[in-house]
Amino acid sequence: MKTIENISRMTTFVKMMKKEGRSIGLVPTMGCLHEGHMSLVRAAKKHTDVVVMSIFVNPIQFGPKEDFEKYPRDLKRDEELARDAGVDVIFYPSLKDMYPEGYATYVTIEALTKNLCGGSRPGHFSGVATVVTKLFNIVKPNIAYFGQKDMQQALMIKKMAADLNMDLEVKIMPTVRGKGGLAMSSRNMYLSETESKDAVILHQSLKQAESLIKGQERDAKKIIKTIEDMIKSKPTAKIDYVAIVDTKELRDVKTISGEIMIALAVFFGNTRLIDNITIAVK
Ligand code: AMP
Repeated sequence: MKTIENISRMTTFVKMMKKEGRSIGLVPTMGCLHEGHMSLVRAAKKHTDVVVMSIFVNPIQFGPKEDFEKYPRDLKRDEELARDAGVDVIFYPSLKDMYPEGYATYVTIEALTKNLCGGSRPGHFSGVATVVTKLFNIVKPNIAYFGQKDMQQALMIKKMAADLNMDLEVKIMPTVRGKGGLAMSSRNMYLSETESKDAVILHQSLKQAESLIKGQERDAKKIIKTIEDMIKSKPTAKIDYVAIVDTKELRDVKTISGEIMIALAVFFGNTRLIDNITIAVK
């Protein structure tokens, strides 16, 4: 496994791979790797010849009061995990290389980004779209892999790739969960023992919502209320949002029909966690 720390060297490597006719799979991450990231690597290994994992904590997707400075960084540990998972190249660009002085170009997607996390994190999705566009242009992947855990992000990137005629496929892989069904996240390491125990309620409340829908409940308000009541029963939880949206436009729905997503964001202490499930109803 190689670690490439600068853009021009990455470009040279990509040219070489393309010349040899090898397909490239890209797994963009912010590091602090866990099983969720590894599941994307495994998928990439199945479908493409060379797996590139980018590790870059992208400042422009963090709000001024968010955790950019304290976001966990441990390249040595990440390198070991990536090597074990069969990553071929870690792309680890510097901040200066990605955003040199005078940097002035941002990508904004008008659809899909206003609701859910777009409401609570202004500028976040434009920051994500910008860095992902840069990574796509540098690494030129045939397929790029994203997790359903961040479904709004993944759908936005699919839309961006289609709208801007980007010559690649965007694949969305299922959420990997840990103990008690808690969705794996680099931010889980911020949680205290009590917060970790409480956070399991996110998955439990989504499962409860799913069983209500299976039992023919179709009123989104009622389902949201059930989820909120369950979450509020945990002393360390503070709800940012709980929403039920259609999976095409990510707009709130009143009545459950077609394919919907139940999405939520909840603070446990200072740590904001997100989760979602999608359900198709006839
Ligand atoms: P991050 O490093 O948190 O920016 O995540 C990098 C990629 O891994 C994104 O596409 C995430 O959606 C994906 N990812 C993060 N956590 C999980 C998880 N628990 N299951 C599946 N994919 C995940």
